[in-house]
This record gives sequence, C-alpha cells and structure tokens, in this order.
Amino acid sequence: MAEMTAPPTAYPEPYPASRTKALESLLVEKGLLTTDHIDAIVRRFEQDIGPLKGAKVVARAWVDPAFRARLLADGASAIMELGLDRGAPLVVLENTPGVHNVVVCTLCSCYPWSVLGLPPTWYKSPAYRSRVVIEPRAVLREFGLTLPETTEIRVWDSSSDLRYMVLPERPAGTEAMTEADLATLVTRDAMIGVAIAHAPARGAAAGTD
Ligand code: FE
Repeated sequence: MAEMTAPPTAYPEPYPASRTKALESLLVEKGLLTTDHIDAIVRRFEQDIGPLKGAKVVARAWVDPAFRARLLADGASAIMELGLDRGAPLVVLENTPGVHNVVVCTLCSCYPWSVLGLPPTWYKSPAYRSRVVIEPRAVLREFGLTLPETTEIRVWDSSSDLRYMVLPERPAGTEAMTEADLATLVTRDAMIGVAIAHAPARGAAAGTD
C-alpha cells in the first residue's frame, strides 16, 4: 500500500479567481464592501456598461447609412471604427418591418461580448436556449414583446467562432434626435432580439433579469 503523503493540493479554479474571492471576503469582512454592492457592480456590467458599446454601434448605424452597410457586411471590422475590440466574427442582423431576429446559443452561452459585455443570466438558462428555438413567438411574448403574426421571426444560433447582434429598427418619431440621444434608446435586450427600441415618449424597455 502506498505510504500516505501530504494531501494533494487541489486548485479547482484559476489563481486570479481565488485571489479575487479572497479579496472580496476580506473587504466584506472588514465592512468596506457588501455583497449587495458587488452584485450591483456585476449587474451594471451586464446591463449598462457592456451594452453601451453596442448601443453606440446601433445609433451610428441609424444615422450613417455607409457605416450601416459596412456593419452589415462585416460587423467585427466595422465596430473597430468606433474603437471597440474586434472580438470573434460578428454578424449583425437587421430587423425590418417584416423580419425580427433573435439570438441564442443553444449549446452553451456564446455571446457578442465585444458589443454587449456580459450575458444576462436568462441567456444562459436551459429554458431560454431550448424554447426560443422551438417557440420563439411565445418566448418573446413572455419578454413583453408581441409581434404581429405576419412578422417572420428568425432565430440565430451563436457559436464560439460566430456571434450575432441584432440591429433593431429605429423607432418612428426620432428623426430630430442626436446620435448620442439615440444610443440611450437601445437596450441590451433589443440587441439580443427579445425587445425592440422605443421612442422616448413611450418609455424605454426595462431590463428583464
Ligand atoms: Fe455557446
């Protein structure tokens, strides 16, 4: 029988992750941070800071037809014009009055992080990943988006080497708005395709987490 030696040292997670957790517990223990505060920061990256990049891309596409054409032809190259990371190959899907696009990763959680930041929790859930492919219209209704029966819904399955982002339709009544103001109408959910962009008078859609 093998002689017992020191127990094996297991490192189930990468060093930076363990270090971050240790720092987090220390700061919480010392009363300098609360876990609620940390959750709020993560939420901010999921919902606000990450998707802001994509919102700028959409607003530019709404005001600049030449940029829009380049974006639809090669998304990853076009977003670099706005100073964003190229990331994985990016296909931008244009919504039109007759066609609504929605994005999923049926296999895992592939997501266009270069324009949207961190994926929301529901995007990674088995329910969304399986159901949106089978019954997209019903899933969209649960997100509060009821599309006319005449609108064709196209579901796009992301992969590790191909990411998708939806270019929502520019809302009517926004002709006088500046590019920066237009960007505030573009939500993360509209760029995944589970919402649409709204004109300000009607109120922008809230997050759906
Ligand atoms: Fe994936």
